Amino acid sequence: MLADLHCHSLCSDGQLSPSDLVDRAQEMGVNMLALTDHDTLQGIEEARARANKHDIRLISGIEFSTVWNGMGIHVVGLGFDEQHPVMTQAVARQEQCRLERAKKIAERLEKQGCHGIWDKAVEIANGAQIGRPHFAQALIEMEKVSNMGQAFKKYLGAGKPGDVKTMWPDITEVVGWIREAGGTAVIAHPDKYKMTRTKLKCLLKAFSEAGGNGLEVISGGMEASFSRRMAEFCAEFNLMASQGSDFHGPKPWSELGKFGKMPDGVTPVWSQWS
Ligand code: AMP
Ligand code: MN
Ligand code: MN
Ligand code: MN
Repeated sequence: MLADLHCHSLCSDGQLSPSDLVDRAQEMGVNMLALTDHDTLQGIEEARARANKHDIRLISGIEFSTVWNGMGIHVVGLGFDEQHPVMTQAVARQEQCRLERAKKIAERLEKQGCHGIWDKAVEIANGAQIGRPHFAQALIEMEKVSNMGQAFKKYLGAGKPGDVKTMWPDITEVVGWIREAGGTAVIAHPDKYKMTRTKLKCLLKAFSEAGGNGLEVISGGMEASFSRRMAEFCAEFNLMASQGSDFHGPKPWSELGKFGKMPDGVTPVWSQWS
């Protein structure tokens, strides 16, 4: 069994359609997949229809943007009821939040001399949930920067003008939505927050107390030593272990189903679905 429980399609900032993504997962030998687009469920129906043609079990998924202690934290929801009113209302609210945030980002970048960035970013998003990667692409096309990394470093990353994150709901509220809809709430990519060990433990304690039930012990290119530490944190904070590539599109360093081995001694999130 190979589970990949974190990836993105064109419905947020990924490069493949939900169908192409599922086909690629099949080629890569993935047989349990969760499409976890940012703050939207748009792609799930298409992904599920395609998964049913293959031998792939599709788990409902989403990656919610949240705030904890002023920091942006991503929480993956898995295995929830997609029709649950709490979930559908929450997603509608997040989609609205994304749109309002995007307008703020555009206003701020406009003030930085990036004229016409709103129209450009909207065109690039092409109906997807608009996010910072679309602004990054717009900055590249406007020749303000030469690559994505630079766009985040100069304009969109933490502390930069285009980093508008305080509009997101508190992490405890988001955990509540996922749990009420019968799902599992998982802290995404703990290696990406540039937190000290103490701060990360503080986050996991608060998350666990709020009803959060999982942690990505394996994420994309996470170091093996970091994974082992996360496995220990699972035991310490009573969390299940999840794994996913956080695939956004074919890259030399990112592929569906390609990541390190889950450390021994953890309870995988999928053990509750078999
Ligand atoms: P948003 O959800 O709109 O806040 O955008 C966050 C997304 O931007 C993440 O999910 C990544 O896909 C992407 N991202 C974040 N930091 C970087 C970076 N330094 N370089 C390229 N992409 C990034
Ligand atoms: Mn993304
Ligand atoms: Mn994320
Ligand atoms: Mn992601």
